[in-house]
Amino acid sequence: MAKLFLEVVTPDKVLVSQEVDSVVAPGSLGEFGVLPGHISFLSGIVPGELRYSDGADRESMLVTTGFAEVSNDKVSILVDAAEKAGEIDLGRANQAIERARGRLEKNRHDENIDLSRAEAAVERAVVRVKIAEKLI
Ligand code: ATP
Repeated sequence: MAKLFLEVVTPDKVLVSQEVDSVVAPGSLGEFGVLPGHISFLSGIVPGELRYSDGADRESMLVTTGFAEVSNDKVSILVDAAEKAGEIDLGRANQAIERARGRLEKNRHDENIDLSRAEAAVERAVVRVKIAEKLI
C-alpha cells in the first residue's frame, strides 16, 4: 500500500521521521488530512493536535506554530515546538496557563505586558492540557 513520509521538525530536534499511512494536522485555515497521492500544498500550522497512523499504531502530538509542506507523498511539519502526547508535562502546562493568565490579568493595569504573547502562551498550554488529558 502507498505510504507517506512524515517529518516533524523543531529548531531543537527531529521528533518524527518515518513512513505513515495518514496525517491530520491543525492548519491555519482549519484541520487538514493527508493520504498518499495528495496534491502538493503549503499551509500554516497553528497550535493544536497532529495525528498520524502507521498500520494499527496511532500517535497524537502537540504542535505549536509553523508551516507544513506536502509534496510527492512527503509531509514536512516545521514548528516552534512539538511533543508527543505521552511526553507532555501536564503540571508544567497548567503552570504555564496560570502564569500567562496572571499576565493577562496584570495587563489591565500595566501596559508593558505583551498581550498577544500572553494569549498565545495560554493557547499553547490549553491545547497541551487537552491533548495530555485526551480531551480532543
Ligand atoms: P513554558 O512556559 O512551560 O515554557 P511555553 O508554551 O512557553 O511553556 P514553548 O515555548 O511552547 O513553551 O516550548 C519550549 C520548549 O519546552 C519546547 O521544547 C517544548 O516542547 C517544551 N515544552 C513546553 N511546555 C511543555 C510541556 N508542558 N510538556 C513538555 N514539554 C514542554
